[in-house]
Amino acid sequence: MKYIEEFRDQALAAKLLDDLARVAARLKRRVTLMEVCGTHTMSIYRHGLKDLFPSQIKLVSGPGCPVCVTPMGYVDMALELARKPGVIITTFGDMIKVPGKSSSLARERGLGADVRVVYSPPDAVGIAKANPDREVVFLGVGFETTAPSVAGSIVLAKRKGLSNYSVLCAHKVMPEPMEALTSGELKLDGYICPAHVSAIIGEEGYKPLAEKYGIPCVITGFEPLDIIRGVTMLVRQVAEGRAEVENEYDRVVLPGGNKKAQALLAEVFVKSDAVWRGLGPIPNSGLSIAPAYEQYDAAKKFSLAEPDSRENPACICGEILKGLKEPLDCKLFGKACDPENPIGACMVSSEGTCAAEYRYGDRRLANA
Ligand code: SF4
Repeated sequence: MKYIEEFRDQALAAKLLDDLARVAARLKRRVTLMEVCGTHTMSIYRHGLKDLFPSQIKLVSGPGCPVCVTPMGYVDMALELARKPGVIITTFGDMIKVPGKSSSLARERGLGADVRVVYSPPDAVGIAKANPDREVVFLGVGFETTAPSVAGSIVLAKRKGLSNYSVLCAHKVMPEPMEALTSGELKLDGYICPAHVSAIIGEEGYKPLAEKYGIPCVITGFEPLDIIRGVTMLVRQVAEGRAEVENEYDRVVLPGGNKKAQALLAEVFVKSDAVWRGLGPIPNSGLSIAPAYEQYDAAKKFSLAEPDSRENPACICGEILKGLKEPLDCKLFGKACDPENPIGACMVSSEGTCAAEYRYGDRRLANA
């Protein structure tokens, strides 16, 4: 198959669902599978897949929405920078409405701060070149998927001799939180591994999950047929008592990943401990700017320290990100909290589980 419509073909989907039902009938108990990536979460909700799966399968969402797992303290640092005279904040659009302790970048922009949405980090370097008397800061949020382009922007700024460009770095890496979740309250039977991240890191990083913790892993594409096939591969592993790393998305993901992107990451970043919203600190799960490029580290340049910002106590984003609760378990869902007035990051991000439930939840009713 070559075209996206083919991966949404209803007749093929029905056949694959029949196949899944046959494999699931071999299970001796109900299994819990986690889709780690926010783009998978959106696709599962958009296409109403949860309710089409056999009742032996429970799908839960995980911590793979980068905005959702970025601590509020980071947002507060970005707001502090935005209020500084002469600073231009550049960011992807999904950070604009994320609430900090008392404001958001959208609100600060309304009050006069210079906050600009860019389509790629090199665009931010272009803004720095065009504004030599201003400091341009890019908000580096995301996993291995976005981190290479941010690394590239730092290398580009160095090559151009720009000293007014820096990155407020909150990049995170993926297999580590998946490993952390295996020792949590939730007993997982399999991971739908993140596709974009896997395109960079390949299959290797998930092997400890399969070999050490006995959790089947399947790298899966984002279209409905991909997800049904990926879930079938996972269920088949559970039914057969296997725990391996399999790759459903081999039209994109190479076993060894993208070596050029990996080299760029290794040049510009070093692994570091990181705090995940909802999950807490996880060793070696973050990327910090390497000493050779520290002049591009906005936290060092502006002497910023991440404040310990408190979440709204009624928001259950943390438990949702661990797969322990669902958006409808939150008493604020659709009342005090909606995409126009988000309280937690799971609602503000376009890939957040609460946003997905709010946008596509009626599909569940239609399927029912
Ligand atoms: S609905 Fe809003 S307040 Fe509730 S968990 Fe989701 S983001 Fe948090």
